[in-house]
Amino acid sequence: MPSVFSHTFSTPVFKGSVEFSTGIYVDGQFIDGSNGSTIDVINPSDGKLITKISEGTSVDVDAAVKAAHRAFETTWGLHTSGRERGVLLGKLAQRIEEDIDKVAAIEALDNGKTFTWAKDDLTAVINCFRYYAGWADKNQGKTIETSEAQFVYTRHEPIGVVGQIIPWNFPALMLAWKLGPALATGNTIILKPSEFTPLSALYIVKLIHEVGFPAGVVNVVNGYGTTVGQTIAEHMDIEKVAFTGSTLVGRKIMEAAAKSNLKNVTLELGGKSPNIIFDDCDLEQAVNWAAFGIFYNHGQTCCAGSRVFVHEKIYDEFLARFTTRTQNVKVGHPFEPDNFQGPQVSQVQYDRIMGYIKSGKEEGATLHIGGERIGTEGYFIQPTIFTDVKPHMRIVKEEIFGPVGVLIKFTDDDDLIHQANDTVYGLAAAVFSTNINRALQTAHKLKAGTVWVNSTNNLHPAVPFGGYKQSGIGRELGEYALANYTHVKSVQVNLGMKKA
Ligand code: NAD
Repeated sequence: MPSVFSHTFSTPVFKGSVEFSTGIYVDGQFIDGSNGSTIDVINPSDGKLITKISEGTSVDVDAAVKAAHRAFETTWGLHTSGRERGVLLGKLAQRIEEDIDKVAAIEALDNGKTFTWAKDDLTAVINCFRYYAGWADKNQGKTIETSEAQFVYTRHEPIGVVGQIIPWNFPALMLAWKLGPALATGNTIILKPSEFTPLSALYIVKLIHEVGFPAGVVNVVNGYGTTVGQTIAEHMDIEKVAFTGSTLVGRKIMEAAAKSNLKNVTLELGGKSPNIIFDDCDLEQAVNWAAFGIFYNHGQTCCAGSRVFVHEKIYDEFLARFTTRTQNVKVGHPFEPDNFQGPQVSQVQYDRIMGYIKSGKEEGATLHIGGERIGTEGYFIQPTIFTDVKPHMRIVKEEIFGPVGVLIKFTDDDDLIHQANDTVYGLAAAVFSTNINRALQTAHKLKAGTVWVNSTNNLHPAVPFGGYKQSGIGRELGEYALANYTHVKSVQVNLGMKKA
């Protein structure tokens, strides 16, 4: 029998208890992983053990795939109506809403984001499930006019058994982005959360069970990427894999899919997003949004505005205000009210970010502000800005995934576009200007899946999200995401054409 995680929070922002199984969830049951081993879950605020969860293996993935096939062929897939699926998704949203403080507390404990922002994530989770609950009975095919002798229509059929591999930066939200459209369209799922942040998925799957999704429809197999993740990517009986994570691992997923059964692949990968501040912007708003762009979620955001391009006419004024704004970012314990930034998620990420800060200094950039650890325990890093950077520097080219931004002065709009697009990534970008022509002309020239005009990190379940270039393949969210999880079948009916 798997262990139960039981924890009582008595924090300034949340007091209450949570309880859930730490097993893997296969075929409607929480069970131990096949080899009985566990994974340590570490609290990023103090580096101490929170709990241990069951470690899944390739044997467990096989069992989950069998359960998912059975469910697809008997209780889900074409055996439910869109309406029934929508009702269940709506109930799930409702249950998460009832327990929002509990799930947010688990997320803050496990990931290190503040309780306030974890709650914001959970609100987005609820909205995402509600949004796809609405789509479940509206994803219809078309009738297509060809000739009077034919009746042709298309059906949007679920793909079948789907593997979903998600990262640690938005554990619950990435789960919702994946499960929402896949369940609405009738697929069955094997989900692998990140080994660094497995807890909110275990709580949410408890609610999935409770609201009555049939056994085998959603399976959660926690484990490591090189074992459980790799098995999902190369499994012959999984028809599709959807992945969010690093570009490095995305490449491996695609290779594994190509070498196995050529499964359908969608990828949401990294970014190095430009944030462009024109001289005709509302400066105060641009400063505030730019800080949100890079420091939100401790910089652990795939669309973080990590390269801030500022027009030379306002550069000095922007830098002065941005410096003050950065000094005002409150960093500290996730359960203290008013803190904006908590610890980075893990020792590995902490070391990686400090390595980038070191490389910036060594390569000759000016460390304008920040760059140090905060405190002696946990993985807290000061919000950091570099200036005097050059295009070849690692801090300009590579995704840092931490609270580290670079400021770049520009003079010429054409050169700016060239610099902004001079990256292997293309996930997002932002433009600040009060001149709508200039803003939109720039937006259209940027090679990025999302361009925000006068804001940053602004997401909505109805608005598609995904990358150009090495930031990914396909789009999540919105109506577009439904296509990730459906086959289009054409049915052609002969209304009397005779064959001679
Ligand atoms: P990661 O690529 O290391 O891990 C992501 C997931 O893949 C984890 O569950 C991990 O266990 C699994 N994994 C690792 N190796 C694997 C393998 N060989 N086969 C299959 N699965 C494997 O990424 P991370 O460190 O968890 O997350 C950070 C990265 O995710 C950043 O690069 C960030 O930009 C990206 N990200 C992108 C988006 C987006 O929507 N584009 C959103 C969030 C995060």
